[in-house]
Amino acid sequence: MTIDAALRKYYFCSMKLIDSHTHLYVEQFDEDREVVIERAIAAGVEQFFIPAIDSNYYQRMLALQQLWPERIHLMAGLHPTHVKEDYKKELSIVETELDTKRYCAVGEIGIDLYWDQKFLKIQQVAFALQIQWAIDRDLPIVIHCREAFDEVFEILETFDSNQLKGIFHCFTGNLQQAQRVIDNNLLLGIGGVVTFKNGKIDQFLSEIPLECLALETDAPYLAPSPHRGKRNESSYLGFVLERVSEIYKINPTEVAHITSANVQRVFTSISL
Ligand SMILES: [Zn+2]
Repeated sequence: MTIDAALRKYYFCSMKLIDSHTHLYVEQFDEDREVVIERAIAAGVEQFFIPAIDSNYYQRMLALQQLWPERIHLMAGLHPTHVKEDYKKELSIVETELDTKRYCAVGEIGIDLYWDQKFLKIQQVAFALQIQWAIDRDLPIVIHCREAFDEVFEILETFDSNQLKGIFHCFTGNLQQAQRVIDNNLLLGIGGVVTFKNGKIDQFLSEIPLECLALETDAPYLAPSPHRGKRNESSYLGFVLERVSEIYKINPTEVAHITSANVQRVFTSISL
């Protein structure tokens, strides 16, 4: 083993990493879910925050939590790409979930204009309503934003930023947009994109205080380099950590420590 590899192994064993956004319950993990989670734990990822998509997945999510109740933390919410004709029914299920079970956040919610623009109006309604539900329950929000920065900020800024807390997941914007996220009292969720050659955020990220970042994988999507294009998994969080550590010129242990503390600050209902 080279010194580099040995050091890396030491780092990953000695630090507490949190994957603040991972969809471990989806079909892509049906063949090997337990192995995937054990591999992540062996790589130092101790906690997993699980965003919802739509009502088809709550049973799977709850089953996952039963297996690792100390490590798996579930969110409830309607993902913007799943806001369609039946959105009222879907939203009422989200509301019932929030009222009847213990969730750590409302997410992932937001606006996505990449796949389809025809549902923009109802995406806006669903987003605003779910933010209000989070505020009413003193829960954080986890935001999904794709090709929709203006639309997302337009809604966010109708709320008092002092009432907001949460994570702007998979942040891919510019420095001004990053600043605006922070002004709204949210962390920037940083994942595989930071490792991409054309990912752009690596060029300005160090201007943002490390206290404003949360690390995530968004597994099974957006695998970091060198696994880009393949199925992502939570054990790859170390690649995101390493790149952030290079960008900030701060050792990985400290980056892990600070970003994990940030996540803990957001999810106040969870004691880790
Ligand atoms: Zn997601």
